[in-house]
Order: sequence, then structure tokens, then C-alpha cells
Amino acid sequence: MTRIAIVAAMAQELNGLKEHLINPICTRYAGRDFWSGQINGKEVVLVLAKIGKVAAATTTTLLIQHFKATQIVFTGVAGGIGAKVKVGDLVIASELLQHDMNAYPLFPVYEIPLYGRSHFPTHANLSFALQNACEQVMQAIQKSPPKNTNNISDASILALQQGLLELGLPQPQVLSGLIVSGDQFIASQQASADLQKNIPFALAVEMEGAAVAQVCHDFNIPLAVLRVISDKADDQAHLDFNRFIEKVACFYSQAVVFNLLSRL
Ligand code: SAH
Repeated sequence: MTRIAIVAAMAQELNGLKEHLINPICTRYAGRDFWSGQINGKEVVLVLAKIGKVAAATTTTLLIQHFKATQIVFTGVAGGIGAKVKVGDLVIASELLQHDMNAYPLFPVYEIPLYGRSHFPTHANLSFALQNACEQVMQAIQKSPPKNTNNISDASILALQQGLLELGLPQPQVLSGLIVSGDQFIASQQASADLQKNIPFALAVEMEGAAVAQVCHDFNIPLAVLRVISDKADDQAHLDFNRFIEKVACFYSQAVVFNLLSRL
């Protein structure tokens, strides 16, 4: 049986999805609430990742071992790295890396000891479906506001249009590439510039994705990761963070996840 795990980084994102769960059952395990049920006719399990690599790895292991998830989709926010990545953009991970892993000189910088690799790819087909879902949501945002907001997708598109307008973010884009993770909230121009210099291909920085990818690699479970850019990982990073999550990010998660589930 297929059971798709949707892992959210923020409580607001999870709440938006939870509201639409059919036959919801909550199982509390290891200090986490796992919500099982159906969305769009698909068996799903929804959970908060918790913050940081260890917490996210534990959550992922439980999803696979205890809740029998067969695919994992991660949705959350991240800091944008480099000039071309803007607040409001969507980044889909093609691969992930832990930017704070460094066992040099025993192993090359960033390489996970005993794995012989630093980069963990996401699942090509699942990521492609996620990319298509994101692009369709973006197209809907650029059109005139939906009139009939009875269905969930139209309601979240309308909320997204309002949120993006309010925050002055007119032309968001969908990007795909390397996302880096570490146990640090990157919130200074210097830290962001250092990351960009050391890992030139990085598009976004966050605190969980690469850990989830490593666990999915161990269990051979397909993974796709979506990050909405909430900040530029610079000195302003903490300021608009919560407002962005409430006004924009949680509606992106809803719209994209619903669209994705209808494709799988
Ligand atoms: N204020 C939040 C905590 C946010 S921690 C709360 O109280 O719940 C930051 C979260 O957003 C992490 O889950 C991380 O993955 C992501 N993130 C967003 N911007 C980031 C940045 N600039 N650096 C690192 N992680 C970032």
C-alpha cells in the first residue's frame, strides 16, 4: 500500500493541511503527533519534522519504520542564497548536503563519514511531480483571482495572491537545485556570503532537509523537498520570518501539496 508522508517544518503549515484530512487519527509517538487519514483519496500521514537535523532524522525514521510511509514529501521554509533567489520563490531540491559536516582531514569537507558521499539526491519522479505542482500553482497565482473559493485549491490560491501582494512579492519563481542544511539559523550577510563562496551551487539553506535525505537514502524511500524562500539568510532574516509563514508559506504548502497529491 502507498502511504505518503507529508513532513512540515512549521506548525502553521501542518495546521493548514490537517484541516482537510479525512478520517483523521492522531497517534502520539516519541513526542510527535502523527496524523493519519486521506487527502484527495490518498493515504497520508502528516507530521511536524521538528527543528534541526537530529529531530528531523528521528521523525523520518519513525515515519518509515513505524508508520510505513512509502514516500516522503517535505515542505518548509528556507533562506535564499545568492542574488537570483528571492523571498517568495519556491526551491525544489535536486540534492541536499550538510553544510556543517566537516571531518577533515580524515574525510573530505562535507562528506558524511563512511557513506563516501556529501550530496544526497532526491527522487527524480517524485521531484518532477512536485515541480509540476509548483509550476501549476505559480501559473494560477499570476491569473486573475479565482471567483469561486469553495474548493481548497482556489481558497489557498486567493490567500496566496493576497499574501504576496501584501508583502510586495509580485513575481515568484520556481527553481530546482542544491539545498544545504545545518544546525544553524543563518542570519548574517557574512554567514550567507561564506556559504555561497564555499558551496557555489547552493540555492537555499535550512536546518532539516539533508538529514531527511540521508535517512531516506538508508531506507531507499523516495523523497521530494520543497522550500519556500522566507528570508535571504542575512541580517534581516529573523524580521519578517513569522509574518511570511502566516501570510504566504502555509498557503503555498496547502496549494502545492493538494496539487501534488492529485498527481500521485
Ligand atoms: N521561529 C521558529 C523557528 C524557526 S527556525 C519557531 O519558533 O518555530 C528556522 C526554520 O526555518 C528551520 O526549520 C529552518 O529549516 C528554516 N529556515 C528558514 N530560514 C532559514 C535560515 N536563514 N537559516 C536556516 N534555516 C532557515
